[in-house]
Amino acid sequence: MATLGIPQNTIEILQKYNFNFQKKFGQNFLIDTSVLDRIIAAAEITKEDCVLEIGPGIGTMTQYLAESAGEVVAVEIDKNLIPILEDTLSEYSNVTVINDDILKVDVNKIVEEKNGGKPVKVVANLPYYITTPIIMGLFENHVPLKSITIMVQKEVADRMQVGPGTKDYGALSLAVQYYAKPEIVANVPPNCFIPRPNVGSAVIRLTRYEKPPVQVNDEKRMFALIRASFNQRRKTLVNGLGNASELGVSKERVAAVLEEMQLSPTIRGEALTLEQFARLSNLL
Ligand code: SAM
Repeated sequence: MATLGIPQNTIEILQKYNFNFQKKFGQNFLIDTSVLDRIIAAAEITKEDCVLEIGPGIGTMTQYLAESAGEVVAVEIDKNLIPILEDTLSEYSNVTVINDDILKVDVNKIVEEKNGGKPVKVVANLPYYITTPIIMGLFENHVPLKSITIMVQKEVADRMQVGPGTKDYGALSLAVQYYAKPEIVANVPPNCFIPRPNVGSAVIRLTRYEKPPVQVNDEKRMFALIRASFNQRRKTLVNGLGNASELGVSKERVAAVLEEMQLSPTIRGEALTLEQFARLSNLL
């Protein structure tokens, strides 16, 4: 099978199967071999690796992964793509395609079955409409993984990397930076896809920390605090957290803890570092 990274080969396959793109599944297929090479290089795939691919599409990146990895498991939601994948991946015996929704499958079980529970590498050109739940699901369910190398909307990649004091800083930045070291490895323009997306894209690698960079007694509680702080971004922490009934803390208690941390009583969540959120959570 000729490489699908070459536009003409992708067009031929789409025509052969009379494939209709489904907007609701965020289908933009890669047609640029240099971008594919960069993703594989950034993910540092070797024959020792088991790779989980989310949304293989017609199998463009899957072909590259199958060449470099020991084992590839690809989860694709669109049943119309399954016969196409059988065709485009027919030469590879190390690929398993699962027709399911990545947000519904038990990823831990897949890793257990395919890699004996050892850490996998996740590589994907993600459907942009569910980028955040996919990443959060992998981290919060403690899926054993070494790294996640993904194509996302440029703006979302920026959000994962930034610190306090910028408009993009939020719950996603803090969650990603608690679990992993983020590095943008490539910016990718719309003309590298068919059909072209309306936004610029970027490849970002998230390298999982063995131990989180901050010490927190109750991870779930810290993330509940973070979510509450950014739900009401324009409010001070005293008001935002004091009003969030699910947290069960009074405004007075928040004010007292802020004082203990030597922070201003009118500070907003967007000014706090991950370390400060961890301390706030431990003290509250
Ligand atoms: N990997 C291919 C490529 O690079 O050309 C396709 C990438 S396309 C941006 C996203 C893919 O994810 C599509 O094939 C889409 O059908 C699939 N997808 C969308 N939602 C999904 C979900 N919830 N679970 C699994 N796959 C999904």
